Formats: sequence, structure tokens, C-alpha cells
Amino acid sequence: MPDPLHHKHILITAGPTWEMIDPVRFLSNRSSGLMGFEIAKAAAKAGARVTLVTGPVSLPDPKNVDVIRVVSAREMYRECLKYFPKCDIAIMTAAVSDYRPAKVARHKIKKCLDTPPSRGMTNKSMTLKLVRNPDILATLGRRKKTHQTLIGFALESRNMLAHAQDKLRRKNCDLIVANAVPTLGSPAIEATLLYNEGRAQKLPRLSKPRLATRLLKVIVALPTATR
Ligand code: C5P
Repeated sequence: MPDPLHHKHILITAGPTWEMIDPVRFLSNRSSGLMGFEIAKAAAKAGARVTLVTGPVSLPDPKNVDVIRVVSAREMYRECLKYFPKCDIAIMTAAVSDYRPAKVARHKIKKCLDTPPSRGMTNKSMTLKLVRNPDILATLGRRKKTHQTLIGFALESRNMLAHAQDKLRRKNCDLIVANAVPTLGSPAIEATLLYNEGRAQKLPRLSKPRLATRLLKVIVALPTATR
């Protein structure tokens, strides 16, 4: 029997985003990208057509996966909007920066050595103005059609399940994978799956490749995925 994912189009995001401050510095987070890459590998193995949009990571392209490498949240947003209408399933594992600097300096910002202060800087402090980035998952949630399945990840340092439940509803997901801070950069993950009908399923600690195959099995069993 063919795999239920055979010929399905799956969009996956992975990794961190970099929000440039100047040509040298950026704001980012500790995501390695491993979870998204493992899901992409497992989905391609199951015969799916996989588009992987990833922020800067040091992982090689998985076999039989269309990899699109981006830097910032806004670039990731543009690529996702392009591919989402054609996809059956979207799995958003990327740790997208919530904010970016309001302005990117054209040249490397130098330490302020003079008093009086200039441009938000003194010789003791510097103020960086940040603005909100677009929320990719929430946007896809608003655009989702009935035949499409949308999966999000939620990494929290406290009140994990309550925050994840809230995201599930707010971002109109079919499923949220909640996990805690030790997942970052780790080869393993301890996750709880939250379903949109209210069920929570705590999984044992699994390697990321094993969670990837487990998650795909859960996804194909969701009511939307078999439509
Ligand atoms: O709200 P929070 O950033 O914690 O949400 C996490 C989920 O939302 C993840 O699935 C992440 O990939 C997605 N996300 C996104 N775009 C953002 C922020 C988060 O797609 N700007």
C-alpha cells in the first residue's frame, strides 16, 4: 500500500532567523534547525514533495527536498506565503525572531567614546529600537483552507501547556508540539502534542529523527490530512 504521504506537498520551516543590526551583528536565538530537517527527511522518505524553508543553520540539504535558505523573518514569511497555497500540510518548526531592529545601520556601529551622547548612545549604554516581525504561522492559520493541515511548535520556559494551548487557538493550528528549553540544540526532544479538539498527549523523550516519524504518523491520522 502506498504511504499516505505519497505525493502530498509538505511545507516545513526550520532554524532561527537573523535580524541584522549592522553588516556584522544580528539578533537571533539558539535554534539548530535539526527538528525541521529531520521532519523534512522523514517526509521525503515517505514519498512526499517537501519544501523546506530554513534560516541560517549548518546542516546540509536533505536528499530529495527542495531547500530554500533565507536569513530574516521577513524573507521566510515571503517564501511561506508563496508555497502555502499549493501545500497540503505545513509544519512550522522555525524559531522566528519576534522583533527586528527598526533600522539596519549601513556600517558597523562603533562604540560611543564621546560625551555628550549621540544617536541613542552614550559611553555607558546604547538603545536599540525594535519592531515586530510578521507572524508566519498566524498568517497561514488565517489563510488555511479546509483541505490543509497546519502544525506549529511551541517552546516555552514556563507555563508550557497553557501557552501552547493559547497558540493553538490563536494561530488556528490543527496540532501544536509543545516542548521546553532543553530541546534547543539537543539531539532529543520531550514533547507534548496538543490537538485542536482539546486532547493533550505527552510523548516519551525521543531522538529528533524518531519524533519526526512519530509526528508524521500522527499528522496523517488527523481528520484534515485525509480529506
Ligand atoms: O508565538 P511563538 O513564536 O512562540 O510561536 C511558535 C510557533 O509559531 C512556531 O511554530 C513558529 O515556527 C511559529 N512562528 C512563526 N512566525 C513567527 C513566530 C512564530 O511562524 N513570527
